[in-house]
Amino acid sequence: MTDIAPILILVLPCYNEAELLPRSIPRIMQSAHSAAAARGWQLRAILVNDGSSDASATLLDQLASQDARLQVLHFTRNFGKEAALFAGLEHALALPGAAAVATIDADLQHPPELLQPMLAAHAQGYQIAEAVKQQRGPESLTRRCLAKPFYHLFERASGLPLGGHTDYKLLDIRVVHQLVGMRERGRFYRGLVAWLGHASVHIPFDVPPRPGGRSQWSRLGLVRYAWGNLLTFSTIPLRAVTWLGVLGLAVGAAGGLKSLWDYFSGRASTGFTTVILLQILFGGLILIALGLIGQYLGRIYEEIKARPHYALRASAPSRLPTPHD
Ligand code: UDP
Ligand code: MG
Repeated sequence: MTDIAPILILVLPCYNEAELLPRSIPRIMQSAHSAAAARGWQLRAILVNDGSSDASATLLDQLASQDARLQVLHFTRNFGKEAALFAGLEHALALPGAAAVATIDADLQHPPELLQPMLAAHAQGYQIAEAVKQQRGPESLTRRCLAKPFYHLFERASGLPLGGHTDYKLLDIRVVHQLVGMRERGRFYRGLVAWLGHASVHIPFDVPPRPGGRSQWSRLGLVRYAWGNLLTFSTIPLRAVTWLGVLGLAVGAAGGLKSLWDYFSGRASTGFTTVILLQILFGGLILIALGLIGQYLGRIYEEIKARPHYALRASAPSRLPTPHD
């Protein structure tokens, strides 16, 4: 009986990375190959084209035609990085011999040299090895201002410590099974991995600047992503609404008692302005509370529909025929 070497599978989400792919993929593959070969492992990579609108699709196909270890998945449109990671993990499970999966960005901001200590940690029996930021790379002001309070709030709300965590991780294949088994639509990869609670090794690194191209996150996109992740991992905002209601009631009761006291002690209430102000205040609070409940409802609606997380392009010609063809 011949032993089949265990396989390390890289999952690389790619969105509009045409400028970097010809440089980054060979470099990542070379580093990963050295790390895998040193342990007698084989290497494969799943490159997920997240609906790129630049030349990424063609470049990825070209790279795959030159290197049999590469498999490309083309999304029909941009479904987002979370969906791309999920697709990669799902497809990795289908590869016979897969022993571990490493998720790594395609823009060289995740130094591929770390795969070596990650595999060493796996050999020691750790199910998860994760690269943790020591110093954040050069990033926008919005992002810098948003990241800290978000992680602080997220940790308080969910009880999961995520400070400095990134999507650069090496997961044992059993962990990948568990992750893919969680079918929820609102996905936050870092959060889900932490939620599983396996012992993990942290490998510190400094995020290098992007050697080309640009980050695809818009300001609004980042805020939405942060807020959405908070809601999917915690119901604390709902509880906060209840407490706000209790507080409102207490303040209202005190105000009511004072008005009654004034009335019976013969002092006419000059409260028209107060009434307007209170109406505005409580009207606003009620609308915020309703909006918050609506956001959770929207999420439940998304989950109930249970649509797939992504759609793959059928392997058809790169250009669809027009009626004039
Ligand atoms: N990415 C993706 N889909 C998206 C946005 C980004 O697959 O909608 C990929 C991107 O190609 C890169 C990784 O996710 O490989 C990280 O993206 P980016 O560098 O824009 O994020 P940042 O490093 O700023 O967090
Ligand atoms: Mg990046």
